[in-house]
Amino acid sequence: MNLRAACKALPNVVCLEASVVELLGDIARDGRFENVRGVRIGPPRSSEDTVDCVDVFPRGLTFVCDGISSQFRRQLNDAPVELVSHFCGLVLEHEPIATSEHFEGPTGATTHLARPTERHVNPLPMPHNGNVLLDGVGPVLLYQMSERETRVLADIPGDQLPSEASGRLREVLRDSLSRVAPKSEFPGLHANLMGALDSARRIRCIGNKFIPATANNIDGALWLGDALNVRHPLTGGGMTVGLWDAVIVTDLLRNRDLPDARAMRRIKAQWQWRRRPRALVINVLSIALYSLFAAESKELALLREACFDYLSLGGAFSMHPSGFLSGLMPNPLLLVYHFFSVALLAVYLRIANRSAAYPGGPLPLRVYSAFYTLYIAAAVILPPVWKELQP
Ligand SMILES: Cc1cc2nc3c(=O)[nH]c(=O)nc-3n(C[C@H](O)[C@H](O)[C@H](O)COP(=O)(O)OP(=O)(O)OC[C@H]3O[C@@H](n4cnc5c(N)ncnc54)[C@H](O)[C@@H]3O)c2cc1C
Repeated sequence: MNLRAACKALPNVVCLEASVVELLGDIARDGRFENVRGVRIGPPRSSEDTVDCVDVFPRGLTFVCDGISSQFRRQLNDAPVELVSHFCGLVLEHEPIATSEHFEGPTGATTHLARPTERHVNPLPMPHNGNVLLDGVGPVLLYQMSERETRVLADIPGDQLPSEASGRLREVLRDSLSRVAPKSEFPGLHANLMGALDSARRIRCIGNKFIPATANNIDGALWLGDALNVRHPLTGGGMTVGLWDAVIVTDLLRNRDLPDARAMRRIKAQWQWRRRPRALVINVLSIALYSLFAAESKELALLREACFDYLSLGGAFSMHPSGFLSGLMPNPLLLVYHFFSVALLAVYLRIANRSAAYPGGPLPLRVYSAFYTLYIAAAVILPPVWKELQP
């Protein structure tokens, strides 16, 4: 909202609230746009108005940025969309957790564990932080939205969501939430989560997709943000990618007259080249970490364990991964280096029989399963890297 207000305050921005119902331009024989010259707009979806649609032909470039459910993405990219999982949302209500004086860093945070018997008292394992709880059906995210409210996003892996009408969705969620916050360990949080599930009249869910970017090769328009490129929201990277898309295009168009079609194609190619490393790192990491966090096999659980051991080494072992997630270290080769370092640590943990996630077995079996884990690590990271590298 503040970003919108900042944009509206600029002297050269004219704001018009409407719904785009169609892109307008020349259509090629294969039914795709040769170019985009404008848009057909109707009243905003929220409005009851029944005014006629109007065609608008702006001079220059049309930005297509209609988000994750983009109705115009298929004009650019009609590849089937990969649905990785679903997030189901709930809201926890709790006692006010107002200021950051509750939080004194990772050590102090443990003193704020949910109090054993009181349901509405400070249910968060670490207030004022994003909390990712593992060992459920999929990972469960908790983050405070305000003093009294915390958003819960419970992941359900796979492209099929259990039916809410039959009650199956609530069953799966109850099981998942009970596993991530067992009553014996987190009675307050457990009760709070169950209360939120029982009191939710309708559970709102959203599909978590992976859509690699494709070349913006239609003249007159530029697809950006989630309309172009989507990753798993577990790592919260979408805004970083979308805002950098906008920063880079602004930079390339700064102090220029409106370029002709040829110059614009060159600018788009530069844009694609400049956005790719950062987008690749954030997108691939979201998919790789999701695979580890939703670990469905012993090998993935071993990789997850190695990942936590690796991060807890500190220094570059945690600073670089943080840099990847925040978009401050857009270096794909460094990402691959760290990922395979984690995989080699997993190999060591398995062969030395030091893994809690995948213990036991005679040495030959441990060696075999360690190298199989290396293969699984490659299978986790290389396919999304390959998809992101496509022109
Ligand atoms: C559950 C979840 C949690 C997330 N958490 C994070 C997080 O913590 N951090 C983070 O960085 N990212 C997060 N993301 C991702 C982030 O929300 C998106 O990547 C980001 O909002 C994309 O920005 P956008 O401008 O491309 O699309 P959007 O923010 O979706 O904006 C698209 C806009 O276009 C409008 N629109 C759509 N169709 C039309 C039309 N036909 N005509 C006119 N207007 C239209 C929509 O109303 C909307 O306002 C999360 C995503 C999900 C699903």
